[in-house]
Amino acid sequence: MLVIRTPEELSRAATRLHRAAAPSVGGVLVPTMGALHAGHTALIRRGVELAKGSAAACVVSIFVNPTQFNQPSDYDRYPRTLDADLAVCEAAGATVVFAPAQEVMYPPGAPVQVPPLPAVATEPGLEDAFRPGHFAGVCQVVLRLLRLLGPDAAVFGEKDWQQLRVVASMTREAGLPTRIIPHPTLRDPDGLAMSSRNRFLSPDERRAALAIPAALRAATQAAGDGEGAMRRVLERAALRVEYAVVRDANTLGPGTGRGLIAAWSGRTRLIDNTAVGVA
Ligand code: AMP
Repeated sequence: MLVIRTPEELSRAATRLHRAAAPSVGGVLVPTMGALHAGHTALIRRGVELAKGSAAACVVSIFVNPTQFNQPSDYDRYPRTLDADLAVCEAAGATVVFAPAQEVMYPPGAPVQVPPLPAVATEPGLEDAFRPGHFAGVCQVVLRLLRLLGPDAAVFGEKDWQQLRVVASMTREAGLPTRIIPHPTLRDPDGLAMSSRNRFLSPDERRAALAIPAALRAATQAAGDGEGAMRRVLERAALRVEYAVVRDANTLGPGTGRGLIAAWSGRTRLIDNTAVGVA
């Protein structure tokens, strides 16, 4: 497994992988912010499988992207575990890890390129309403990664459903050739969706957080009013709920197809979602 940190190392890696001068690494990209858990491992394994099919590389990027954090304190306390992450990538079969410094992703003095945001990033009133600027930062970093690495495909988790829809739309609207591949959410045995932020939960906060997957299950089982079913579960829990809605799965506008929740347990913000009302 190659670990590379700069565009120069990248082009050397591309040449080595393709055995000839090549404009990009290609292959399959799995973008992450590190602090890898079994959910990420599943994405990397998927990337490795997809890459194998076309004898290409599976590249994992690890970069804690400052522009997508709303609070400097959230950015500062985000877990950074690079040595352990490299071991996870190696064990999962990744070919390359791209772990750039901030100056590589955001060269000082270079104009900041934010692609036009798709409607699904600005209109649903979900993450866009509660984390202003978040998707501008996500699109900025994903666009830069796609341009630097030129992957044929990139794997994104369904855990961040709105992000998945935003990245798929942004990639299409920017005319980029990369296919966006969704991967299902991995959960702990108690049902909580795996997240790098779960480590911040106290035992009581974690118990309270289980109301999130419970509410999503209730929505799935409800005959009609999925939102009502979620509300009834959530109002009994010690959580501060930002949204608990059922929306069209693609546009995230009015409709049915996906139940989505964002809620705080103590000082930790958690998001989760599931298919609702689809056969
Ligand atoms: P992050 O490092 O949290 O930015 O996540 C990197 C990628 O892993 C994103 O595409 C996430 O949607 C995905 N991911 C995070 N948690 C999970 C999970 N529990 N199951 C599946 N994918 C996940």
